[in-house]
Amino acid sequence: MKHLKSILAAAALGVFALTATAQAQDKGLVGVAMPNKSSTRWIHDGDAVVEQLKALGYTTDLQYASDDIPTQLAQIENMVTKGAKVLVIASIDGTTLSDVLQKAHDAGIKVIAYDRLIKKSPNVDYYATFDNFKVGVLQATSIVDKLGLKDGKGPFNIELFGGSPDDNNAFFFYDGAMSVLQPYIDSGKLVVQSGQMGMEKVGTLRWLAATAQARMENLLSAFYTDKHVDAVLSPYDGLSIGIISALKGVGYGSGDLKMPVVSGQDAEIPSVKSIIAGEQYSTIYKDTRELAKVTVQMVDAVMSGKEPEVNDTKTYNNEVKVVPSYLLTPVAVDATNWEKILVDGGYYKKEEITQ
Ligand code: BGC
Repeated sequence: MKHLKSILAAAALGVFALTATAQAQDKGLVGVAMPNKSSTRWIHDGDAVVEQLKALGYTTDLQYASDDIPTQLAQIENMVTKGAKVLVIASIDGTTLSDVLQKAHDAGIKVIAYDRLIKKSPNVDYYATFDNFKVGVLQATSIVDKLGLKDGKGPFNIELFGGSPDDNNAFFFYDGAMSVLQPYIDSGKLVVQSGQMGMEKVGTLRWLAATAQARMENLLSAFYTDKHVDAVLSPYDGLSIGIISALKGVGYGSGDLKMPVVSGQDAEIPSVKSIIAGEQYSTIYKDTRELAKVTVQMVDAVMSGKEPEVNDTKTYNNEVKVVPSYLLTPVAVDATNWEKILVDGGYYKKEEITQ
């Protein structure tokens, strides 16, 4: 009996100690603002950031804004009011957050721009992202390689699509792609039959698939009734799906109308399936788990009064300051390597793609 009592007492102490540790581990609230749930990449991002923050003892407030700017502003205001210590923000429009970030700054809150640069505000402390210029380079290189332009083949017809003009990344993707495509356009090996070039002409507000689909339909009926489009630069898988629908609508991908070489980004499951089916040609994989890891390390460093690790202090000028950044490396994926990169790398289970 005495023995039992001491076991019980020890157990109670143990419980007490555990509770005390759990309390000691509550390192504070981190607000995580994501743009939308319509693209699965942001769901993966949100989940990975929250899981890794919790593992370190932070509490989290994860919010999605359905791509609505006032909703995102209200969500961030609310995080400030609730006493968040750090904000991790993937903005919808990177230029609209200045007022709320001033409030955050006045309250001593640190701000980390997640994936997308926050512009026109001094109150952005760090930026975690991928090498966005390289994303565009890889997209264009996959098109150039598939067409055989390096072997002197051509001329080929290409049309260009850009991302959302309120997302700083869209300009980096476009500029990176054009750094590869422009020489072939200049030499006449690539021809943009519509003549539509430059982000002001090819941008796709809010990254909407329906907008890209409508524009592709217009391009096809205005410029390609008696010509074949051989390639389409698409900056994001969602847009590629809209573009491919437009192409299929006029018979591409069946009979002798060959599907053009269409690029993409994010390695989203419908697009990986499309690649395997021979429709979309390539995508760019950005491991959201790695981006979450870099971000969470930044959070933990600022919370411990340390300098987070960065690897770029030159590229991302937000029009007020150059934001110290950590850039991860994007990877091109096509029918030849999807399994090795996405399945063997543990990003997807094979059944998710093959079912
Ligand atoms: C991200 C891309 C994504 C796009 C559309 C960009 O800011 O970097 O990964 O494809 O937004 O959601």
